[in-house]
Amino acid sequence: MTSPNTPASPEVRIGIGVSPGTAFGPVVQVAPPVRPPADEPGSTDPEGDLERVRAALAVVAADLDARAAHADDTAQQILKATALIARDRGLAKAAGAQLAKGVGPAHAIDAAVEQYAAQFEALGGLFAERVTDLRDVGARAIAQVLGIPAPGIPKLSQPSVIVAEDLAPAETALLDPALVVAIVTRAGGRTSHTAILAAQMGIPAVVQLSEATAILAGTPVSVDGDTGEVVIDPPVELVEEHRRRRAARTQALAASTGPGRTADEHPVALLVNIGGVRDALEAATADVEGVGLFRTEFVFLSATTAPTVDQQTEIYRQVFEPFGRRRVVVRTLDAGADKPLAFANLGHEDNPALGLRGLRLSAERPDLLDTQLEALARAADLTGADVRVMAPMVATAEEAAWFARRVRENGLAKAGVMIEVPGAALRARHVLADVDFASLGTNDLAQYTMAADRMRGELSDLLDPWQPAVLEVIAAACRGGAELDKPIGVCGESAGDPLLALVLVGLGVSSLSMAPSKVGLVRLALARHTLAQCQELAEAALHARTARDALDAVRSAANPEVTAIL
Ligand code: PEP
Ligand code: MG
Repeated sequence: MTSPNTPASPEVRIGIGVSPGTAFGPVVQVAPPVRPPADEPGSTDPEGDLERVRAALAVVAADLDARAAHADDTAQQILKATALIARDRGLAKAAGAQLAKGVGPAHAIDAAVEQYAAQFEALGGLFAERVTDLRDVGARAIAQVLGIPAPGIPKLSQPSVIVAEDLAPAETALLDPALVVAIVTRAGGRTSHTAILAAQMGIPAVVQLSEATAILAGTPVSVDGDTGEVVIDPPVELVEEHRRRRAARTQALAASTGPGRTADEHPVALLVNIGGVRDALEAATADVEGVGLFRTEFVFLSATTAPTVDQQTEIYRQVFEPFGRRRVVVRTLDAGADKPLAFANLGHEDNPALGLRGLRLSAERPDLLDTQLEALARAADLTGADVRVMAPMVATAEEAAWFARRVRENGLAKAGVMIEVPGAALRARHVLADVDFASLGTNDLAQYTMAADRMRGELSDLLDPWQPAVLEVIAAACRGGAELDKPIGVCGESAGDPLLALVLVGLGVSSLSMAPSKVGLVRLALARHTLAQCQELAEAALHARTARDALDAVRSAANPEVTAIL
């Protein structure tokens, strides 16, 4: 590995840490996507060229499917959904229209992709996030018609830090954690595909780093996936400090096992977020107390027709079984906005994040909810698992009661709601009246509290769950839960932040659900603080004026044994 320099003052840049851990290594820049050659001749045989474009898109789709076959669930679903873009007949048709105008095949693909990208960007939300996937499909298809290698990460010969404008899911999913020590991107956000996949794979990652792509290849950098700090040409001391921190962290984590507990034995269940059978099989072997969020829509992202009761029962059975008697909290389909499902599409919406998504869609299509609840009940019977079912995007007490009734009518014992709408948080004592539990979806709760699209990386500061306003809303939900003595968990990304986890517990949260790679540090942080200390930290965060102040206040008051290894 390249050795660190000792400049007087190294260049320090701050992005957003989205996957914990520190790393040091030389930069490998991911080449910008293939562009159509300036001297490409025009099309003289539009029909023949359209066949070539179709064939190229088919190869791209097949390649993405083949990659999906080797990836874990979350990556698999993202790759399959990207393959669907390549199979979209409209895309080939749009390229055909360009060819008919005499444009060459590579330019025709590019124009078709850009036409789609403009539409996606105009729609915002879910679609804007998919522009990276769409352009990746375009670049792959262009490479295919030109007969050159597909774009992507160069072959690595040593442990390296991968730096890119953004990473397409097809690239991120197949990274080798043994050679990719960290990921840095200029674009992306807290909930972008890069962030989710990097955390799932345990690779430290920083997104939204300005001028990331201008860092010269081969330059040594240190990356801190917790603080978002990237140091270019870091001094030896910093690299050594990171190395010590990693070693101390590994040692501390090895000594911290078992159920989540504060230092004074207050239980806080440590759970994992999963997206399907493979995630379940892997997570079940980890030292966790069960599943706090099974995103069932992830299983069906690429399905074009609604899955039957039998098909769903079999999938759920396979998810429940590996967890034995541990709890599995299942979320019913959260279709719409950033998670579109082809078979649950109610047509164009100007504002999908504020539209018929989550439970609202179940009200429009109760058949989908009933099929799913029946399958969940059957799988629960078959496995004897501790299954708890919750609804996404609940806003009112009536909705919660309606959902709970349907869950119980299907013979399922425990019904809950996700609290991700500020209105539901403020009225938690009514919303929770007819259900058994709630789970705070802090990704959406931050989006709706701060009126900031969660898919817009550049709005990350507003989406920061340390925003005191978001913490106030969480506190209100916890007060409502406490009044009724109903447990409240957290399953948004904030649950995996060790310092924020302390605040959440101080506010009254009794379970935390996160990517498996984040559980160890959260368990350790809890074990080093009493419940009373967590409450003090929560008070300090609530009284802060800004998100930064809240984090600083908690960091400086938390046990140094914990902050020293973060
Ligand atoms: C959330 O909104 O915090 C959440 C856990 O749900 P999702 O990220 O799937 O919308
Ligand atoms: Mg949500």
